Amino acid sequence: MEIKSKKNYMIDFFKDEKNHNREFTLSEYDSEVKKAYEAETGTNKIYTNRTPRNLIRYGDPDLDGILKRTKRGTYIFHPGEKFVIKKSPFSEAIKKKIKKRDKYKCQWCGKKETKLDILAVDHLEPEASGGKGVYENGTTLCNVCNNRKKNLKISSFGLNMFKKYLEKSKINKDEKGIKFLEDIIKVYNKHNLS
Ligand SMILES: [Zn+2]
Repeated sequence: MEIKSKKNYMIDFFKDEKNHNREFTLSEYDSEVKKAYEAETGTNKIYTNRTPRNLIRYGDPDLDGILKRTKRGTYIFHPGEKFVIKKSPFSEAIKKKIKKRDKYKCQWCGKKETKLDILAVDHLEPEASGGKGVYENGTTLCNVCNNRKKNLKISSFGLNMFKKYLEKSKINKDEKGIKFLEDIIKVYNKHNLS
């Protein structure tokens, strides 16, 4: 008999037809996976809580279909569907407008555009989460920051963006927002991401 990995028990839940195309809660999922694991191994020491979130984000080659979150703690699995990232690039005209608005400066480090170093326009709300290639959703980044952002897998905002929100929060006297944004900026500074 083939030895099943812990992940196999989780994937098995989604292979079971009775769990197709219907909403289920995280605790339901958790108890079923644990039950199946215990029946075969004699222990229920299997940590399942994080898997649905990771499966939504990254999918899995053994998972034929996609998992969606319907509301907090509730999921639905659609077998046979594939992950598709709808691309929505910026047109050249919109890129020009965005760069002009951003004064031809990288919104992360402030570097100016030169003839040899053309700045990039990046999605604030990433394409993978449905962000569109429109004026409001664009920000200007230099290639170094753009690559750094990609390497760090930071999917949305840069430091200057948070600073702008912090200014707004201060104007609106939004104490919670101010605290949150100041903490985030501290993290950026701590890791020299400025
Ligand atoms: Zn930069």
